[in-house]
Amino acid sequence: MTDQILIFDTTLRDGEQSPGCSMNLEEKLRVAAQLEALGVDIIEAGFAIASDGDFEAVQAVAQQCQRAVVASLARAARADIERAAAALKVAKRPRIHTFIATSPLHMKVKLNKSPEQVLESIRESVSLARNLVDDVEWSAEDATRSEPEFLARAIETAIRAGARTINLPDTVGYATPETYGAMFRDMIARVSNADLAIFSTHCHNDLGLGVANTLAAVAAGARQVESTINGIGERAGNAAVEEIAMALKVRHDVLPWRTGIVSTEITRASRLISAVTGMHVQPNKAIVGANAFAHESGIHQDGMLKDSSTYEIMTPESVGQSHSSLVLGKHSGRAAFKDKLESLGYQLSDNEFQDAFQRFKALADAKKQVFDEDIVALVDDEVLRGHDRIQVTEVEVYCGSTGPQRAILTLSIDGEEVTAATKGNGPVDALFNAVKKLVPHDEATLQLYEVSAVTAGADAQAEVSVVLAENGRTVRGVGAHNDTLVASARAYVNALNKLVVKRGRSALAA
Ligand SMILES: [Zn+2]
Repeated sequence: MTDQILIFDTTLRDGEQSPGCSMNLEEKLRVAAQLEALGVDIIEAGFAIASDGDFEAVQAVAQQCQRAVVASLARAARADIERAAAALKVAKRPRIHTFIATSPLHMKVKLNKSPEQVLESIRESVSLARNLVDDVEWSAEDATRSEPEFLARAIETAIRAGARTINLPDTVGYATPETYGAMFRDMIARVSNADLAIFSTHCHNDLGLGVANTLAAVAAGARQVESTINGIGERAGNAAVEEIAMALKVRHDVLPWRTGIVSTEITRASRLISAVTGMHVQPNKAIVGANAFAHESGIHQDGMLKDSSTYEIMTPESVGQSHSSLVLGKHSGRAAFKDKLESLGYQLSDNEFQDAFQRFKALADAKKQVFDEDIVALVDDEVLRGHDRIQVTEVEVYCGSTGPQRAILTLSIDGEEVTAATKGNGPVDALFNAVKKLVPHDEATLQLYEVSAVTAGADAQAEVSVVLAENGRTVRGVGAHNDTLVASARAYVNALNKLVVKRGRSALAA
């Protein structure tokens, strides 16, 4: 058996499905490009039948990807599978990923099907998919709560119908390493045609065991792992790809398997996902948290200065963190800025570069030292918002101890400028009222408003996150600026853009 583990990335599907994590087309394409740079083997680009937007996204990612296999999810239904195949038509290496539930609870309550009917569905759906593409993956939804006898029959049926990857997800995050590993061992031994397929893991983190379960399944013979950047995903998220890849790399002595992950691209991928989804990584998160390589206690610092391996099991450079964070100032020119962008992994178009450079100069004037983190926040803010239909043009706020606070806000909506002056209970309220006046969205409620500093110091840039909810949909917006209120307006408007994308075109006010 090979020691190579295939990495199936589902950041764009399972990850994007998590609350507040929606991405637009441009964002998905940027993520897909970074996933290829990171070296993942398969990119699950979406669920083609879910909406026209999902279909277009799968198609565009399929078109863009040069090396990775591109997959679309499909339920066990003709329309789903045909839609997936249509979206993947332009892919160099298409894969249809079809699934059906196999646990007694799901078959009865959700599908209202007998076990025999489920087997029939597997036969039909996998055969149909195999007629449309060569590479078919089949998943047994809720595998960890399925009866082993029936699960084995289902797997055998899927392989006989042409599936070459068999995924056994822990859909509800219920497994433990021992039970999950045992299930793989049992199925690989029990299913007569198991040698024709690659077995795959898909672990959720409800008990914080996603990565541990994944590694247990690998030890039991799984050779594909499904995971996401930063571990984003439904509920408590999926197993994090950066943790799996680094565990295999750092502990190769006891975990003797390899992945194609280019570990120095990990930090870049993590930052990009944070930027496009607005979901920040907790500071103590393994591998990619802000504190993952920070040493504060005196004893640790002393040891680090003598020999970094005293307290460091891997180097920050090995996951793509640049060594010194201090970079540019107001005398830095275009060339230095361009170099810096390249070292941070950005490839900007000429227009994007001009805009980013202007904002960098403005920031360098306001702030003595410009750090890598500042540049990442600034460029993400500039580039990722560049495609938004509604943009913040100008912000003016009057605030202080005697109210009411007032705001004058100019937005550009599809290129046309509109201005409103409003009052509010505090400057942020006044500002958000101005947005509401210009783009009415009475049904949406503000769920979260959060300000954090990009770096230390009183002159640090503010990064603001905003979550808006409307009819059960939540969207998250982010904005960065050295003026907290400008960052607030940008974050709110960014979230609003995502809401508008979700509702379709008609919702924009004149
Ligand atoms: Zn999942």
